[in-house]
Amino acid sequence: MPSYSPTIVAGVDLGGTAINYTFFDGAHFSVESLCEHPSLAPQGPEICLQQMADGLQLSAERHGVLLPQIAAVGLGTPGPASTEGVLSASGSTNFVHPAWCGFDIRGALEQKLGKPVVCINDGDAGALWGHYVLFGTENHATSISAIIGTGLGGGVIVENRVLKGCHGFAGELGHVLLPYQCIPGLENSRPLCNCGRVGDLESVCSLTALEKCLLPAYLPKYPGHELAQMGDLRKAARLVRGLAEKGDPLARELFAAQAHALALFFDQMITIFDPDALIVGGGAIETSPELQQWFMAQIRSALPAQWEEQGGIPIHIMPNGDTAGARGAALDAHAAWLATSRSKLGG
Ligand SMILES: [Zn+2]
Repeated sequence: MPSYSPTIVAGVDLGGTAINYTFFDGAHFSVESLCEHPSLAPQGPEICLQQMADGLQLSAERHGVLLPQIAAVGLGTPGPASTEGVLSASGSTNFVHPAWCGFDIRGALEQKLGKPVVCINDGDAGALWGHYVLFGTENHATSISAIIGTGLGGGVIVENRVLKGCHGFAGELGHVLLPYQCIPGLENSRPLCNCGRVGDLESVCSLTALEKCLLPAYLPKYPGHELAQMGDLRKAARLVRGLAEKGDPLARELFAAQAHALALFFDQMITIFDPDALIVGGGAIETSPELQQWFMAQIRSALPAQWEEQGGIPIHIMPNGDTAGARGAALDAHAAWLATSRSKLGG
């Protein structure tokens, strides 16, 4: 049997419903399109770990990668999790099976695959990918990414490193409190986040926010609207992006409110970090170029006044948004693998 020197890292992005994979050799990603496998996360860790292993094998085969070539695996998981990859004892919204609480997902996957596994928060992984595309591997840049999905994830990257903080909980950007009352239409709202806070970024800028806060606040202005007739806000929330693409006034107003929330959040980030770039990603803006550009313009127009020098801080759209998490997890694992290889060589 031929032997292979392991030189490739795999990126695995574990979500509540799907797992995405990519492979990285230090220069190129071998997966250019979305490569998914069902995660079955609600059925608990044992079944989900098997899904991760099976999906990795299938994806590797599909892309001409042999398992012995894989030196390490980067695993992106939803937060909160410790820096060692132990999921929060209080659980996670998409991982409802009780066995997930306090589960050492990094250690378990390492044992299952027989390869080193490096864990990264999925929002941080996306942020790392966005930063890498803008600034490459050698830089002194700071970037802040906000990723709008079911919740709101993201991360802070400084000189290619994820800001992790004392407990690994840094960059939980969705739970930063905002002066949301200054968003037109939300003056009398009380947006409650799943985390228990009132008026944080996720509570006004996420798919969940559309259902729980924005539709209830704005629908009464549009009594004849098709979403008002549905009587099911959860289903209605999922139709907003498509309607916004078609120029529907209510849907655009909902997107404008989310853009305003992002602008208030970015203002805080600009004040604290004076970043080189701000990046917006996630399902909300996996949409038509026209809506994307309109949304970015809405963010810029709602940004409070900055210092003159900071007025030109660019706001980018996350590149390859649907595979950003897997790519970032691969980048993170590749950096860790290189560092380990160098220290073994005494370099
Ligand atoms: Zn929150």
